[in-house]
Amino acid sequence: MGLIIRNVSKRYANGVQALDNVSLNIPAGMYGLLGPNGAGKSTLMRTLATLQEPDTGQIFLGDIDVVHQKDAVRQTLGYLPQEFGVYPKASAEELLDYFAVLKGITDRAVRRATTEALLKQTNLWDKRKQKLGGYSGGMRQRFGVAVALLGNPGLLIVDEPTAGLDPAERVRFLNLLSELGETSVVILSTHIVADVAELCTNMAIINQGQILLETSPLQAVAALHGRIWRKLTDKHTLPALEQEHRVISAKLLGGQTLVHVYSEELPGHGFEPVQPDLEDVYFSALTGCLGPAHPQRKAEKITL
Ligand code: ADP
Repeated sequence: MGLIIRNVSKRYANGVQALDNVSLNIPAGMYGLLGPNGAGKSTLMRTLATLQEPDTGQIFLGDIDVVHQKDAVRQTLGYLPQEFGVYPKASAEELLDYFAVLKGITDRAVRRATTEALLKQTNLWDKRKQKLGGYSGGMRQRFGVAVALLGNPGLLIVDEPTAGLDPAERVRFLNLLSELGETSVVILSTHIVADVAELCTNMAIINQGQILLETSPLQAVAALHGRIWRKLTDKHTLPALEQEHRVISAKLLGGQTLVHVYSEELPGHGFEPVQPDLEDVYFSALTGCLGPAHPQRKAEKITL
């Protein structure tokens, strides 16, 4: 079952155009939606989760019309929002059982088997009696996945799930997600390039409500081969470099500034070629070097 998004637009009452003619084909598997804060990711995720409607456009999950058949979507949807509340005094086991009832799993034995399997899958079985108020951020996120997986969803949406997790928790969480993408559509919305690089077979980059690039991480990186160059400079010469070259990123390294430049040939003295990675793809797209031309949008420099 795949997800097809056609010409979806959304403008909020305050005039912000959060989605601007978004079209995507999302096959089964792990799909990364990558973009900076304010790009429109949550708006798109909430729309897919039937929590809000687009102004225009169509969305199909298999043959379900997502905008008009909300109940049918909700029966096969798992949604882990950016922020979700838990009842701090309930244990994971109690609250998961409660959500399972809400999901319509009325048979007690089936419910017990389901919640046990999910608590084991999310590695929370040993902590099932602990109150959720005492859970770490990573444990809470994994509990959120257990809730989202109730009823075997064909579409699982996780919105910015690794923000705020420490590195070990993040790895554990990503490993859990990677196991889920085998049969269902799993959409991971994030501003963290590494999350997508490690997990997703397909991806899109979104900014200012528009899709800049729809690709696979491997293809996108291969397509940049020979086009990214680097130079160590100092912050005083950076403005001059930016005048002359298509600087996609500039980050501090040992007190100096490491600049990455997009160029189809050697940009000049002192540059050396870089083996591109997904971060270079991301910044090339955001600065207008990759993807559709948006003449109305001025390329922004990205400073890390
Ligand atoms: P992201 O998830 O990529 O950070 P969002 O979808 O949350 O992006 O936001 C996209 C744009 O829409 C931002 O400019 C944000 O301020 C605006 N926005 C989001 N929700 C609302 C809302 N309910 N009302 C008005 N503007 C909103």
